[in-house]
Amino acid sequence: MTAPTVEIEDARLAPLVDPGARLRRLWTGGEWAEGPVYVPAEDCVYFSDIPNDRVLRFSETDGASVALAPAGFANGHTLDREGRVVRCEHGGRRVSRVEHDGTLSTIADRYAGGRLNSPNDVVVKSDGTIWFTDPPYGIVSDREGHKADSEQAGCFVFRCDPADGSLTVVSDALEDPNGLAFSPDESILYVSDTSRARRDTGRHHLFAFDVVDGGARLDGPRVFAVCEPGVFDGFRVDVAGNVWTSAGESVAVYAPDGVRLGRIPLPEVAANCTFGGPAGTTLYIAATSSLYALTVATTGARSTAAAGSPR
Ligand code: MG
Repeated sequence: MTAPTVEIEDARLAPLVDPGARLRRLWTGGEWAEGPVYVPAEDCVYFSDIPNDRVLRFSETDGASVALAPAGFANGHTLDREGRVVRCEHGGRRVSRVEHDGTLSTIADRYAGGRLNSPNDVVVKSDGTIWFTDPPYGIVSDREGHKADSEQAGCFVFRCDPADGSLTVVSDALEDPNGLAFSPDESILYVSDTSRARRDTGRHHLFAFDVVDGGARLDGPRVFAVCEPGVFDGFRVDVAGNVWTSAGESVAVYAPDGVRLGRIPLPEVAANCTFGGPAGTTLYIAATSSLYALTVATTGARSTAAAGSPR
């Protein structure tokens, strides 16, 4: 449907994606699509359409369907080490998990005596700890949640240990922490700050932090990349450590050294992407009203920090 275009700016991108690869629009009809996760056991993608308070499911064999509505104004999704879907809910102001029997468990909903703002995006580390961001997008209006006052002292990045339910602030350095992902060896955590989405002078940066003290703490925050125009919302890291990130009306690819390798232009603003498909080489992109797919020649990072951990 769309002109086959991948803009290669650095030769390192050429082996990772065919510039003539066809961008496919798999589904359209949403208002703000975000939070895609690929579930190998079902060969499908789940993703959120936040303002319409629903989670959709897409598979190449079944097409698209509504999987959950209402959905607690779901946003980001990921899989844990047991293959369970972990979900951020703006409406529920919590991180929840879909158990193997289909029931929902609350992973985290309060910190320091107050409700969370509106968990946005989530990732699971190889040790099973659940890391998520808590900006205010689900409480600033009724569009993507329920308008309410914040009960937190800021917008934090959290680490939750599901073994004992403990919740720890790992960063208070960002204004509106949003997407997050680990490097393949989990020595770096990337977190975007999208406060420009709320005010013109806000941030539109991707930050990198060192993961220290055995994964208990972050240190050394620095700017990894700057988005212009737009913001980096959600992103994923491939096996070689390249960052594939939403970047306005495109997905941009950055090498681990921070050099932008190129862009995949899109007809609308991208929110997030994820690797999936039977071979792991499909890049699924949630972008405003639609879900897109592009075949690439790499796959998503699976932690090498815990040898033998399941995909
Ligand atoms: Mg987000």
